[in-house]
Amino acid sequence: MNISFAGKKVLVTGAGQGIGRELVKALVKCGAEVTALSRTKSHLDTLAQEVPVKTVCVDLSDWAATHAAVEAIGPVDCLVNNAAVAILESFLNIKPESFDTSFNINVKSVINVSQVVVKNMIKRKTPGSIVNISSQASQAALADHTVYCGTKGALDMISKVMALELGPHNIRVNCVNPTVVMTAMGKIGWSQPEKAGPMLSKIPLGRFAEVDEVVHAILFLLSDKASMISGTTLPVDGGFLAG
Ligand code: NAP
Repeated sequence: MNISFAGKKVLVTGAGQGIGRELVKALVKCGAEVTALSRTKSHLDTLAQEVPVKTVCVDLSDWAATHAAVEAIGPVDCLVNNAAVAILESFLNIKPESFDTSFNINVKSVINVSQVVVKNMIKRKTPGSIVNISSQASQAALADHTVYCGTKGALDMISKVMALELGPHNIRVNCVNPTVVMTAMGKIGWSQPEKAGPMLSKIPLGRFAEVDEVVHAILFLLSDKASMISGTTLPVDGGFLAG
């Protein structure tokens, strides 16, 4: 199957590191015109040295700055809301600021960025595709992940309502829900053997996901090859959620 994004303008958030960064490179290879949005300028600068991309440096937790920055990008055909943070605390130790930061970045910014992009799509009467990067944590309880699980559960349901309301405008919305991937974020929760071991034992394929395995699922759902798929959550979890 040959996936092409030739002639498509694609916006990826959280493009400085990890899954977002590799996704940008894959999209460029597939012919897309990519805008990479992220928080740390140096990460965006090194990305732009590797592949031809436009970069936008903004903190997604700032609603007004993000709204203005995304409006300035102009028309977008495909959007990947990938940026997120993971702040791990046991339930009894959750700090109010952890809740606010996590929901601002992982949930509220998805609404903000998508509103700007979708309003422009509707104005142009053009079809669109959005992929929101959720997690297996949206559907399975993980110790010390109360707030993170909460943000991803919210993201799954928000994505379904977006699919419901935006479908009549020919805009598809889906989630990709990975298991652990050993990016900077993955290392926060799972680099210690006493944490990794029990998790690995619950993954039927017996390993964590590679970045490329998540990227491939995103490319599929974002592309016209998934033209009748909307409102779904696609686990990339080696069977974890089946257990
Ligand atoms: P990562 O390596 O930590 O990269 C996250 C990216 O998001 C970074 O480029 C970061 O910017 C950016 N970002 C974070 N907060 C931001 C903000 N306020 N404004 C703008 N950009 C911001 O994480 P990842 O593992 O690639 O995760 C990507 C997605 O996959 C996330 O939605 C995550 O929840 C999901 N996921 C990850 C795993 C895993 O195990 N890794 C598992 C399931 C789901 P900086 O360059 O400044 O750091």
